[in-house]
Amino acid sequence: MKASTDTIKVLVIDDETSIRQGSERILKRMDCSVLGAANGEEGLAILAQKKVHIVLLDLKMPGMDGMEVLGHIQADNPAILVIVITGFATVETAIEAMKQGAYDFIPKPFEPDQLRIVINRAKDKIQLQAEAEKLARDSRRTLADLDMEKSRIRTIIESLPSGLVVTNTEGNIVLVNPAFCHMIGLEPGTCMGGHFTEYITDENLGLLVRDISRGRYVDFEEIPTYEFTLGDDKYYIARGRPVLGERRECLGAMVAFQDVSGMKVLDRLKSEFVAKVTHELRSPLSTIHEQLAMVLREMAVEEAGTDQHLISRAKEKTQGLISTIGDLLDLSRIEAGNVCHELREFRLEELLTSVVDFLKARAEAKKQTLSLSLPDSPLPTFTSDPLALESIIGNLITNAINYTEEEGLIEVRVDKVGDNVRIDVQDNGFGIEPKYLGKIFDRFYRVKNEKTRFITGTGLGLPIVKGLVESLDGSISVESEPGKGSTFTVLLPVPR
Ligand code: ADP
Repeated sequence: MKASTDTIKVLVIDDETSIRQGSERILKRMDCSVLGAANGEEGLAILAQKKVHIVLLDLKMPGMDGMEVLGHIQADNPAILVIVITGFATVETAIEAMKQGAYDFIPKPFEPDQLRIVINRAKDKIQLQAEAEKLARDSRRTLADLDMEKSRIRTIIESLPSGLVVTNTEGNIVLVNPAFCHMIGLEPGTCMGGHFTEYITDENLGLLVRDISRGRYVDFEEIPTYEFTLGDDKYYIARGRPVLGERRECLGAMVAFQDVSGMKVLDRLKSEFVAKVTHELRSPLSTIHEQLAMVLREMAVEEAGTDQHLISRAKEKTQGLISTIGDLLDLSRIEAGNVCHELREFRLEELLTSVVDFLKARAEAKKQTLSLSLPDSPLPTFTSDPLALESIIGNLITNAINYTEEEGLIEVRVDKVGDNVRIDVQDNGFGIEPKYLGKIFDRFYRVKNEKTRFITGTGLGLPIVKGLVESLDGSISVESEPGKGSTFTVLLPVPR
């Protein structure tokens, strides 16, 4: 903004009335407001009361002389621009006055133009000064705003109830909040600078944070969440994101930790409850099933007809319930960590061949082709729980058969990838919409659409598979496209 010049106030201190009046006339035409003083004392008295921008000061006056008045002005109002008026004989005094801080001088007698020139120069200086002051004020305000913004963000981060860690590209910690320190049992402010893995030793979490910090997940929409425990029944879910710079370069990782210990307890209680109820239901249901089978066997042929049909249906239903209960009990055991694996050494190729052969009849009933593709070189002998593996692969193949149209193709592939054995079960069936992919491993979750509504199931198969795979220290993932098919991939570590 331009400093306004029409409010410039000039005080003329000169004992000569003609100079005062002449100056006033010229200055008023320049839109200045003008005050006059006949001597130094009078001038200083005016300055003590009124705001003035420029003083035109005669150096040679009776009483207090100009130099003394200049001294007072410099001391009391250093911002005022003083222009000294001097006769030719006193040029040296004028120079002296400039040294004392006068802004300019004008010889006496002066032409109107000469006065206009020095006053305009002074006005420019005042305007420049005003602009510079405004800039300085603005920049002070911006810095203050920034400071405030910074401290506001810091306050928010510090009051977050969840733990938060920011690392640089090397995985070294650059910022933590008090909730994180509390989580790992340290005083707030004590964990800074070291590598992330010095504070949380979970190996897989360390690898995930390392990968995010190095930018491996920059183009990922979602980064896998990771659940881990710090012992003492304390469970956390870690969610990370890369921290990106202006050019989308990765500057490090931001990881938030959510305490899920309470949810875990609830989950355990729920599993225990389900296990108890299903256990109580299993025996009476089996008895009813057996009795229905007996009634059916003993029914005289002549009694056959509607009754027999009804009893057959009832027997089928009880069979369905018994297998749901069996699945639930299996799942409860897996979730409670109560699966005792019987580890044996065996050839994975043989196990897969026998599972595939066993399920071939089922695929053929739907005119589907079920094939097994083995690697060129034999896999190393495998030490694991063959029953668990049969259950995992059997479940995945059964799903592939169920959720693929007649005449579809199902292929099981196995190969060694790094330190893992990788088993793919691929079909060209219905596929799964992306929005359901995260849910199909949840208990009782079944995708409901036109194609799946007539397929019976419990929604417990995949949770059992996932539980078993994880109990063998493996992982399972799925890729799928509606209308094209699905591939479930199981990775199992090969024990060294
Ligand atoms: P169930 O098969 O008893 O319904 P699962 O837990 O085995 O239960 O599977 C959950 C859901 O995932 C199924 O209901 C189905 O919608 C979907 N699903 C599983 N496998 C496949 C597959 N190979 N192709 C398409 N959908 C599948």
